[in-house]
Order: sequence, then C-alpha cells, then structure tokens
Amino acid sequence: MHPFNYVAPLTVKEAIDILEKHGDRARPLAGGTDLLVQARGNKWDLDAVVDVKKIPEAMQLDVSNNGLTIGAGVPCYQIYDHEKIKSDYPGIVDGAFIIGGIQIQSRAAIGGNLCNAAPSGDAICPLIVYGATANIAGPSGNRDVSVEDFCVGPGKTVLKNGELLVSISVPDPPSGFGAAYERFIPRNEMDIAVAAVAVSVTLDNSGTNFESVRIALASVGPTPIFATKASNSLQGKPINERSISEAATIAKDESSPISDMRGTIEHRKQLIEVITKRMINKAIKRARG
Ligand SMILES: Cc1cc2nc3c(=O)[nH]c(=O)nc-3n(C[C@H](O)[C@H](O)[C@H](O)COP(=O)(O)OP(=O)(O)OC[C@H]3O[C@@H](n4cnc5c(N)ncnc54)[C@H](O)[C@@H]3O)c2cc1C
Repeated sequence: MHPFNYVAPLTVKEAIDILEKHGDRARPLAGGTDLLVQARGNKWDLDAVVDVKKIPEAMQLDVSNNGLTIGAGVPCYQIYDHEKIKSDYPGIVDGAFIIGGIQIQSRAAIGGNLCNAAPSGDAICPLIVYGATANIAGPSGNRDVSVEDFCVGPGKTVLKNGELLVSISVPDPPSGFGAAYERFIPRNEMDIAVAAVAVSVTLDNSGTNFESVRIALASVGPTPIFATKASNSLQGKPINERSISEAATIAKDESSPISDMRGTIEHRKQLIEVITKRMINKAIKRARG
C-alpha cells in the first residue's frame, strides 16, 4: 500500500480545501471500513485520507419534528441505539443493524455506506424509501441530491472533485407511515446481500388503502434501484393480496441482476419478488403500529 497522510480537519471548509488540492489522490474517511480495505487492495493511490469525524456537522445526529439529520461520519451503532430513531425510523435501523458485526458498526457510517455506492450497500435502500437527501458541500458551495440519484454506478457517485457528503436529511414520517428493509444472505451475518428490498408505505386515514409507496432494491443492478413502477402501481390501491403480489412482480421485472458466485439472475429475481411482498406486509404492520 502506498504511504499516505492522515488529515483530520475541524471544519467542512478545511476538508474541502484539502480534497480539492489533492484531487483524486485524496479520499474522505468516515469509518474507513471500506476505504482502508480498498486502499490496501490498491484501488486508490492516495496521498491523503481526510477524516470527517472531527467535523461537527459530520457528527451530528438530530431528531426533531423537522426530521432526522445523520452526519456523514456517525457510526451505525449510534443510530440503532437511539430510542427516538428506533421508534420513528425503524426501516433505517433495519439497515444500520446488519452492516457487518459490532466492530464494524462501531466505526462504519451510513454516510460511508452511501458514498461507497455498492449496489449491495445495506443503508442505501432504506434511505431511498424514507425520501432522504444527501447534503453535499464543495468548492462551489452546497447542494442537495436525493439519495436515489446519488449513486451513478458501482462505486461511483455524483460527488465531484473537492466535494464532501456532510450529512443526510430524512423527512419526518407522516402519519400512517411504515417502512422495513431485509436482505437475503446465505449466512446469518457478515455477508453482502444477494438481494434486498426496502419498502415504505403511507396508508390513508381508513388504514385500508395505500396512499403512497416507495420500493427500493439492492444487489440487483449496478446501483441500488428506486423501483418507481412497482411503487406507483400501489398508489391509491386497496391493501390486499392481489395488489401486493402485482407490485412484487413489477419489482422483480424492474430488477436487472447479474449472475455471479453469490447467486444467479433467476435466483435474485425470485428473491426480489418474495422479499418485496414480505417487506410491503411488514411496512403495513409497522404503519398500523
Ligand atoms: C467485515 C466487514 C463486513 C461488512 N459488512 C457489510 C454489510 O453487511 N453490509 C454493507 O452494506 N457493508 C458492509 N461492509 C462494508 C462497509 O463496512 C460499509 O459499506 C460501511 O458502511 C462503510 O462505511 P465507512 O464509514 O466505514 O466508510 P469509509 O470506508 O470511510 O468510506 C467509504 C467510501 O466513501 C467515501 N467517503 C466516506 N465519507 C465520505 C464523505 N463524508 N464524503 C464523501 N465521501 C466519503 C470514502 O472515501 C470511501 O470511498 C463490511 C465491511 C467489512 C470490512
């Protein structure tokens, strides 16, 4: 591994200046659980890693009536240990809770998971179904990008030279809202998803119809997929076996997996159909309390 400098700026501005100066020879570091493994594997030729964990905005974890703000460096355990996040954002906890084991979760951040842009990233689909936004700072100022538009290819994001993910904003869930995430892995833990699905539902006042639905799929395309056709197919529909099965079949058709050592195309598509159904039902259950 090429030797590199460790830099721990105290402000967003300082971090941006260093990233801009070094271009693609510097990378932000949140938990380092992807970055350091990749650096050791010579994916990056680095002059500097820029630790975000000393920047206050990147370490904020705030829940209010305005929603949830997760700093880009906040480790997973802080999310699933937070009582209010557990009660109000269980779909996000579903993702954070299964990333690696306790050692990984003590360092690894949701922000790092998103910026790593793996199609299998367990935090990304939950963020998509909660309608989360990535708050980015860079040399030309700040900008916000919806999480579903953030990843543009395996390991690739919309971030430009010098830009940094500062935090993630998740809107306050409306009444009648429920969400859930589940992955299939052949082992109990410490593996990456063969296929995974996150679903959020907002039910109408009667609790018997879908007002709106968001479905996102992991490990079945070059990026996490916001399955818009499957999501829209349930809008305004009654909650029943038929509408849920139809949406799950559409989600299966929206997936575009490859065959590899973890699973075949057919296996992954079947998993998407099964898990989508299961997650819609779980999200409904959570929405009903
Ligand atoms: C043993 C093991 C088990 C794992 N299990 C899982 C699992 O079950 N599920 C899963 O999804 N992943 C898993 N991972 C992968 C990894 O732990 C997760 O993706 C984790 O969330 C990455 O977060 P991090 O904070 O460590 O990111 P880092 O490694 O710090 O960063 C990841 C990438 O994002 C960039 N980055 C970091 N912060 C920022 C920022 N603020 N702005 C811009 N770019 C940034 C980095 O430069 C790097 O390219 C595992 C890894 C290991 C080693």
